[in-house]
Order: sequence, then structure tokens, then C-alpha cells
Amino acid sequence: MTGGGAVRSGIRFDQVTVAYGGNVVLDRLDLTVEPGEVMALLGPSGSGKTTALRAVAGFVRPASGRVHLGDRDVTALPPHKRGIGMVVQQYALFPHMRVRENVDFGLKARKVHKSEIPGRVTEALELVGMGAYAERYPRELSGGQQQRVAIARALAIRPGVLLLDEPLSALDARLRSGMLAELARLHRELPNVSILYVTHDQVEALTLADRIAVMDKARLQDCGTPQELYRRPRTEFTASFVGNANLLPVTVGSGSVTFAGKRLELSTGEA
Ligand code: ADP
Repeated sequence: MTGGGAVRSGIRFDQVTVAYGGNVVLDRLDLTVEPGEVMALLGPSGSGKTTALRAVAGFVRPASGRVHLGDRDVTALPPHKRGIGMVVQQYALFPHMRVRENVDFGLKARKVHKSEIPGRVTEALELVGMGAYAERYPRELSGGQQQRVAIARALAIRPGVLLLDEPLSALDARLRSGMLAELARLHRELPNVSILYVTHDQVEALTLADRIAVMDKARLQDCGTPQELYRRPRTEFTASFVGNANLLPVTVGSGSVTFAGKRLELSTGEA
């Protein structure tokens, strides 16, 4: 599945503001994610990252501003018409359904033709290395495997945009690093799919993202490649959160990266 059959789209936030009960939690966000790019939304808890992601998914309606996917203004479009796949922290698979049924659920809901469904399910499961587990139930899988199935479910609809909200935070450290390597491989195999990756973990963002959007207090503080932000942070907040004022790189070698004592193996182990 090259590019997931996806239309190249990309994401554009145009002055997007979201408020809850008069409390602005996302303040005039301007940000573009290019087609095929991984953009990490990085920031501390409560900084507005998930809200930005949910505005793309269509689960929150901006008070003002527009959201574009490719050349479509999707601001008023319901979630299922946006052509996006989404994976959240707790894989949220249906426990009473086999892996295959969990993955084909979204296809049936989208009224994909019956004859196409088995092929699409197999393709998505193989993409995440879970082809052999189609008949298992979620409880028979490890946390990492369940999260891979959740990713397969999102990819089965062949999204142009994949939204990942802290997808690794429920996993233990070993599974996390294996999954991070898996996500890097997926990104290479899906060159047309834009990925918006919400995390509070600097190492994940620095490792996986083409560019990082740094959020704090409902606002975009900085945006750039990992190298730019790390070496030449534009704001004090970036310097303290992601720059060399905070993280001391020890090694960025083949197979592993270490920041401030946080070591990350980039091997593709069992996850
Ligand atoms: P992050 O993902 O960076 O942790 P969020 O986008 O989840 O931040 O939340 C940003 C702010 O919006 C927080 O202060 C949070 O409490 C508030 N918030 C999020 N969702 C809701 C909601 N449904 N109702 C009221 N406040 C919310």
C-alpha cells in the first residue's frame, strides 16, 4: 500500500481559536502540515495540543478560524467526511471483536463495498506487521500489538491525514521505543500521508518528526525542524522545553539516540 491510496492533502490551521465556556484553550493557531510530513505538536499538559488535533478531526468546532485539508475547507464538515484516521492513547479496540472485525468496522461504517473489505483489512494489518493476528481477540495481544491494530484500523480507510494523540504513552519504555521505530518505518511507507503527532515527550518529537510545533498556554510558541529548535530555539520557552538548555544530546548514533539520559533504542523489536 504505497501512500495508502490516499489523496495528498496536508493540513492547514488558519487562525483557529477554540474556547470552552469563554476560556480560550487554542488561540489563533496558524500552522501548515505539508502533504506527507510528520508534524509533532509538542508541549506540556494542558497547552492545547489535543484540542488542535480534535479541531482537525472535527470533534471540536472552532469559535473562529478555518481548518483546511488540502484544498478543502473542512471547518463545518462532520468527522466521518474528512478522510482522516485517528489513534488515541488507549487503543480503544472493541474487546468482543476479533482483530479483523475491529479493523473492518470503520470500513463498514463508511460503506466501503463488501467485496473490497477483506483485502483492505489484510493490507492494513500487514502494514503494521499484524497480518498473522487477524483472528485474535484484543485480550490475546500485548499493549504494543493492540496499538498496532488501532493504527491498522485508522489506516484501513486510507486516510490522507493520520492523527496520533500520545499513541505511545500507555506503553512501557521497551514497547514505546519499538513502536517509535515502527512509526518511523510506517512514515517511510506512506509518503503521501500527513501525520499530526501529539506528544509531551521531547525525545519522541525529536526522533520522529520532520518538524515540531511547540505549544504552550494555548499558543504556538515555535515551529521548525528538530535541529532548528534544538540548536537555535527562537523563544525562551522552546529553549527550556526542547532546546539545548534542557536536553543534552549524548549520542545520535545508528540504532539509538540519547537525550539527557533518556536512551531510545531504534531497533524493530517485538512491540
Ligand atoms: P493538551 O493536549 O496539551 O494536554 P488539551 O488540548 O487537552 O491540552 O487541553 C487544553 C485545555 O483545554 C486544558 O486546560 C483543558 O483542561 C481544557 N479542555 C480540554 N477539553 C475540554 C472540554 N471538553 N471542556 C472544557 N475544557 C476542556
